[in-house]
Amino acid sequence: MRQHWVIGNWKMNGGLAANQTLLAGVRAAAGPAAPVRLGVCAPFPYLLQCQQALDGSGVVWGAQDLSAEIGGAFTGEVCGAMLTDFDCGIVIVGHSERRLYHGESEVRVAEKALRAVENGIRPVFCIGETQDQHDAGETEAVLARQLMPLFALLNETRLAMVIVAYEPVWAIGTGKTPTPEDAQAVHRFIRARLADHSAALAEALPVIYGGSVKSGNAASLFAQPDIDGGLIGGASLDAGEFLAIAKAAH
Ligand code: PEP
Repeated sequence: MRQHWVIGNWKMNGGLAANQTLLAGVRAAAGPAAPVRLGVCAPFPYLLQCQQALDGSGVVWGAQDLSAEIGGAFTGEVCGAMLTDFDCGIVIVGHSERRLYHGESEVRVAEKALRAVENGIRPVFCIGETQDQHDAGETEAVLARQLMPLFALLNETRLAMVIVAYEPVWAIGTGKTPTPEDAQAVHRFIRARLADHSAALAEALPVIYGGSVKSGNAASLFAQPDIDGGLIGGASLDAGEFLAIAKAAH
């Protein structure tokens, strides 16, 4: 059976005191043998705090971005080797907010995924269509295009480390979600594209859903056969809500 993941994306939220409470709540409910892997993606300055709070808990932590460069004169950037210094196990790449506000191209996002894998970190590779693309019936074409550079840059061994996150941009932070059946159809499409590449890969790779997941809608989404958990934004800032969502993925 594929590993299920529930990963929190804190975005640019939090602070030392609030994080401590949140991390303690997540840690208290997580066991190393939990059937669903839990992850927390924090802003860079709090990675040490995550490491200290979550070490040995079974919860995986990581960042929300990394540089496509290896190191050197890139002011403001953080490279994969720096994330490994804090034992990051995962890193989000290609979140729609980075694609939109920071002009990250499809190739650049795949390069970041490669850098993550080279450093032993699992990239949470975000793909998804905008509202306009959705309304124009372009969802599948957009997703196929976003996946293509990943297949071009990562060989099968490296691809095996990827967690794909389908996040329709129109569902992020809006309270809107696709129906579980519609989300399932898209996840099936993504899995079919993975299968075009390798049947073993399609069988093994987690494909998680993100966009306005709450404890009230998580179970119906996660019950779909090709939805292997979720990437959770706003609802990951409350430990009780985050863990209720994680329970729905069991
Ligand atoms: C996200 O930003 O990755 C996300 C899924 O946000 P939200 O859950 O708040 O829609």
